Amino acid sequence: MVLLLMLGSAQVYFTMQSSMRFMREADQKLNLHLARNMATELQPFVTDTLSLPEIEDKIHYMMVLNPKIEIYLLDQQGKILAFFADPKKKVKKQFVELAPIRQFLAQQPSTLILGDDPRQPGTRKPFSAAPLSIGGVSEGYLYIILGSELYDNAAQMLSGSYIVQTTLKALLITFLFTGVLGLVLFAFLTRRLRNMSRVVTRFEKGNLAERIPMHAEDELGQLAMAFNRMADTISANLEQLQQTDKLRRELIANISHDLRSPLASMQGYLETILIKGENLSPAERRKFLEITLSNTQLLNQLVEELFELSKLDARQVTPKPEIFSLAELVQDVVLKFQPQAAERQIHLKAMQASNLPLIRADIGLIERVITNLIKNALQYTGPGGTVKVALSKSQDQVRVTVSDTGCGIPQEDLPYIFDRFYRAEKSRSREKGNTGLGLAIAKKILELYNSEIFVSSEVNVGSKFYFFLKTASQEKNASVLDFAP
Ligand code: ADP
Repeated sequence: MVLLLMLGSAQVYFTMQSSMRFMREADQKLNLHLARNMATELQPFVTDTLSLPEIEDKIHYMMVLNPKIEIYLLDQQGKILAFFADPKKKVKKQFVELAPIRQFLAQQPSTLILGDDPRQPGTRKPFSAAPLSIGGVSEGYLYIILGSELYDNAAQMLSGSYIVQTTLKALLITFLFTGVLGLVLFAFLTRRLRNMSRVVTRFEKGNLAERIPMHAEDELGQLAMAFNRMADTISANLEQLQQTDKLRRELIANISHDLRSPLASMQGYLETILIKGENLSPAERRKFLEITLSNTQLLNQLVEELFELSKLDARQVTPKPEIFSLAELVQDVVLKFQPQAAERQIHLKAMQASNLPLIRADIGLIERVITNLIKNALQYTGPGGTVKVALSKSQDQVRVTVSDTGCGIPQEDLPYIFDRFYRAEKSRSREKGNTGLGLAIAKKILELYNSEIFVSSEVNVGSKFYFFLKTASQEKNASVLDFAP
């Protein structure tokens, strides 16, 4: 608005300046011969003597025809000898500068020449002039100020000119119209920005569900979209952080719980041994010591498995891949568990398809996975049951399945059994010395090979765990990416 006002005023000022100059130039051109003609008329009255009453008569007649003019008689030096104009206005100067008059007389002016106005010292006006011999002796001049004092300056023109006033009014209307329209437009534009700013502030104050509603695909719309995406990412990250924090707290609670039970049991038995001393029978003492020993073994296992898991979590385990026969590995592990299976009267067998391709992986880690699965299968299967480890080829992978005819896992527990410390039969499992970490470790190891572990189970019928490993040729391609130093 300020800019508009400034430009508008400047335009008005320059337009007025130039139109005033144009009017003066036109005035001078139109009255180019006015002084000469008048001089011819006046010459007889001034040749011998300055007969003022007669001259005044003459001039009065001329001024009736052209009231805008002021007439001066000047001598050779430019001194005002006589003047004829409205007597109410004072003549303040005695002399008129002659240079412009001479310039006017020397050439027929094509551009505007301004001369002194004796009534307004410092103001210059268009004029017409002609030589005149005064009193028969000296040469003088007839000097006519044109346009009188109709518009001396821009301010007068402003108040006097209809056209200028109309232009000004038009400018004012334009100014108001553009101003109002501009304000409306700005309000419309900033409304969206203000909305956005409100949403961002609310988001900043912790209302993470706040999103900017989107109406358009323009720059503001894109900004809103970018903010919404950023807000989504921040919310998701926060949620993940909260989830991680919750898991961490649960983990610590679980670990302390699992450590406390065997420690409390050990403490109890050791105190009994100490207090009773010689009063304990050797058989009792042995029994108590055996219980204590099994508790230390359990603690040991728990600590080791936790350590293993944390290394897997931190990606500190670097698999040492080698090409080997999965069939042979399974044979070895099954053989290792045969005595345990026989003791529990479980039929443990390995079944494998012929011509199985070799695989490329870390033998130790894969053995750990199969061991954990067989250990579980044996543990949750009663006497007379069967545990089967089967190997088969499926496209470019080898499928490993460990199935049993045991107690099965309730459907509601299935999604959680791979979580650390999760035990389907909580109290009984813990008493048996299960850590609840075996499946979590197996899952983590397989993740190193971008493989997943699957389970299907039915209560009192049995469970089936299976996973896939890429064959050596396939794994070779992937391994470059996975284990490159
Ligand atoms: P745990 O040390 O308790 O065996 P795991 O992580 O190996 O820990 O197993 C988690 C839970 O999954 C077990 O507590 C058990 O309830 C269930 N589970 C695992 N394998 C079997 C299976 N073969 N048959 C029935 N339940 C099983």
